[in-house]
Parts: sequence; C-alpha cells; structure tokens
Amino acid sequence: LGGSISRALQQMSNATVIDEKVLNECLNEITRALLQSDVQFKLVRDMQTNIKKIVNLDDLAAGHNKRKIIQQAIFNELCKMLDPGKPSFTPKKGKPSVVMFVGLQGSGKTTTCTKYAYYYQKKGWKPALVCADTFRAGAFDQLKQNATKAKIPFYGSYMESDPMKIAVEGVETFKKENCDLIIVDTSGRHKQEAALFEEMRQVSEATKPDLVIFVMDSSIGQAAFDQAQAFRQSVSVGAVIVTKMDGHAKGGGALSAVAATRSPVIFIGTGEHMDEFEVFDVKPFVSRLLGMGDWSGFMDKIHEVVPMDQQPELLQKLSEGNFTLRIMYEQFQNILKMGPISQVFSMLPGFSAELMPKGREKESQAKIKRYMTMMDSMTNEELDSSNPKLINESRIMRIARGSGRQIKEVMEMFEEYKRLAKIWSKMKGLKIPKKGEMSAL
Ligand code: GDP
Ligand code: MG
Repeated sequence: LGGSISRALQQMSNATVIDEKVLNECLNEITRALLQSDVQFKLVRDMQTNIKKIVNLDDLAAGHNKRKIIQQAIFNELCKMLDPGKPSFTPKKGKPSVVMFVGLQGSGKTTTCTKYAYYYQKKGWKPALVCADTFRAGAFDQLKQNATKAKIPFYGSYMESDPMKIAVEGVETFKKENCDLIIVDTSGRHKQEAALFEEMRQVSEATKPDLVIFVMDSSIGQAAFDQAQAFRQSVSVGAVIVTKMDGHAKGGGALSAVAATRSPVIFIGTGEHMDEFEVFDVKPFVSRLLGMGDWSGFMDKIHEVVPMDQQPELLQKLSEGNFTLRIMYEQFQNILKMGPISQVFSMLPGFSAELMPKGREKESQAKIKRYMTMMDSMTNEELDSSNPKLINESRIMRIARGSGRQIKEVMEMFEEYKRLAKIWSKMKGLKIPKKGEMSAL
C-alpha cells in the first residue's frame, strides 16, 4: 500500500504540469490503496469527490508546492472522516458510570475491558469489571484472570446463564461499593445473528449504560461497516475501540465504524498485554492508513541528524527489520556521541519515553553506558543474533560476571532489547523515502 501511494505521489511530483488528468490518476491510485487498507468503497468515493472540490487546479497551476497541497488535502479529508463531530461520553471520576462493551467474538472485548479498566485505575479511578458473557465457556475465567492480574474487582458467575441478571447484579454491587467506572463485558458470537443483538439490547436496557463501546478487530476488512451498523441498530453505540493494531492491518475499517456509529474512536489496542493500549490519535493513524507509517516524521529526522554516510546503512537495517544487539549497541553509541539522535528515537512510539525520559537525560546516559558495558562482555554470535532464545541463563550469568554487573541488570538490558526489537520490527519492509519526500505530512 505504502508503495503505491508513494509511487502515485512521486509520479505526480515528477510531472511538470499538474492538470486534471494527473490529479485523477493520482486519486485513482490512492483509491485502490485505501481499498486495500479496508476503507469502504463509498467512503473512498466521498473522499475523492471532496478532494476534487478542495483542490483548486488553478492554485496548483500557480506554482505552489503541488504535491504538498494534494497530500495535505487527502490527509485532512481522512482526518475529518474520523471525526464524527461530537465527542463521546466521558466518564467523570468519583461519579459512577456504567460502560458496556460490545463486539463479535474474538474482537478483543474481554482483553480491552481490562485494558480500559487498568488505564483508568492508573489514573486513580476505582474501576470494576462485570462478566455478562454467559455464552462462551471459560469467559468468566478469562475475565477473572485478567482482573486479578490488574487487581481490579470483578463480578461474574459460573452457574448463572442469564446475562441480564448477572449484569444487573454486578452493576448494583459495584455501585454500592462506590466504584466510579463499572465495565460490563458481554458475549459475542462468531457471526452477526439476531440472538446476539437481542441479548445486547436486553443487557443494555437492564444496565442503562452511560456509554456503549463497540470493539472492532482491525483485521475484519470490509465487514466493518455492516458489523458496526448492526450493533448500532440494537444498542446506542457511543464510541469505538480498534484492536490488534500491532498486526498487519492498517485499520481502515475504523473509518467505516465511525461512519456507521457516528461516534469517535477513543482508544486503540496494540498488543495482548494490559498496557498495550493507547489513546486514539488521529494523525499517526491516518499516516499509517496512507502507508506513510508512523515514520514520515521519523525519516525526516534521520535525514536531519544522522550523518550522511551512515544513513544508507541504518535505513537498510531498519528495512530488514532484524534488530540485533549489535545494532542496539551502535545506536547507543550514536545516542551518547551525538545527543541529537535521541530526537530521532523520540519519534518512535515507546522509544524515548522509557529509554530517555525527559529531564532525566543524565540518568539515561548512565544506564545506556551500563548496558554497553554488559554488551562488551558478549560474544560476536550473541551480538549478531536476533534470536532472543540464544541468551539462556548460563550466558546471562557469564555476561554479568564478565561485566561486573548484577544478573538482574543483564536481564533488564535484555528486556530493553526485546522492547526495542519489537518496535524495530514494525519498520520491516519500510519503503525508504528520499530526502524531502513525504515531508509534507
Ligand atoms: P472477545 O471474544 O471479544 O472477548 O476477545 P478476547 O478479548 O478474548 O480476545 C481475542 C484474542 O485477541 C485474544 O487472544 C487476545 O489476546 C487477542 N487480542 C485482543 N486485543 C489484542 C490486541 O490489541 N493485539 C493483539 N495482538 N491481540 C489482541
Ligand atoms: Mg470475551
């Protein structure tokens, strides 16, 4: 996808005169790309029409930066499509709110419920979880496990088969306990079926939720619109959460979900773990949708601060996606040597916040130096492998001894490595734009 959009835009920037034909060609190319990204056909067509209205061919002919104008127009249009024009209900701390989660089986409801509760718990709220999924065997156990891990109170039953009854009991129990965020997890079915929607309607009627969140798997493709609409017709959906954004899907279905439910995306799920959950941010989302990845700004930074002669090699390694300990070592060297490269990494989600928190640069530098000392005690084989399984207990002990550091610290260094490797791997197959390209966004 990224490739074809980049190509389309590039073709355009190479054309000396931008006339309607070129604009149309470019829009067609982008249409195909957005369809591949699971954006619904009707929405793509709407966007196309709007772009044609917005982009004034005379302006383009007047010699402004043409590529920039069109890029910006497309980008803005997609951002607008993700904005339903009204914010979703926001729960208030200290005041009991009931939030009901709906979505098909496997979309990530139960996981996302806990992430959502955990997110608010960290901010000092008193959340609680209610399992109203009596359809799937093991549903209560799953919720119980998640909730226990996060130390969040939960309510459910192995015996009761009436989801409404449990939901009501749970909500009442937690209202009495002064919880301010009572989250109701519901059942899903593999398919959209009447029984499911009737159940959702009943649970919603019984618990009177302040907010119903539609949970959507980013990989459902073109099915997103119908699915969202079907839920919307039985319960009053007020927000959307898109899950599994750590996978390959670009999440174009989110546009459909927003259109079908007329409600905003509020969070995205980026992994199976409790903290792999982010507040939805429209700009990076749209960049990704357009195949510009989250890396358009990142690329510019690389061109800005990485010495010219080191750029090709670094970019090559990035696009291969294999993050070895040696690459980490070299990047640490860069960070220590040139300071500004930390700006490069600050463009990557998750990179700077943990490795180099603002205001604690000195401590971070000391930590990086410590990590490098440990890596100095590693063998070439270890440094050049991107297989974390290679590093077993005896190797960890040897590295700790060799560098005079504690085993705990060596393990911490590997944790850091794994974290960075995960981020790095997302750049696999990255199409490397040339200097200045795509910088308009
Ligand atoms: P439910 O049937 O809607 O309750 O879905 P679950 O919460 O049980 O999730 C189904 C599967 O998707 C589980 O294996 C989850 O671990 C996984 N899952 C949920 N959210 C995410 C996510 O954001 N990323 C990834 N990679 N997996 C997720
Ligand atoms: Mg579930």
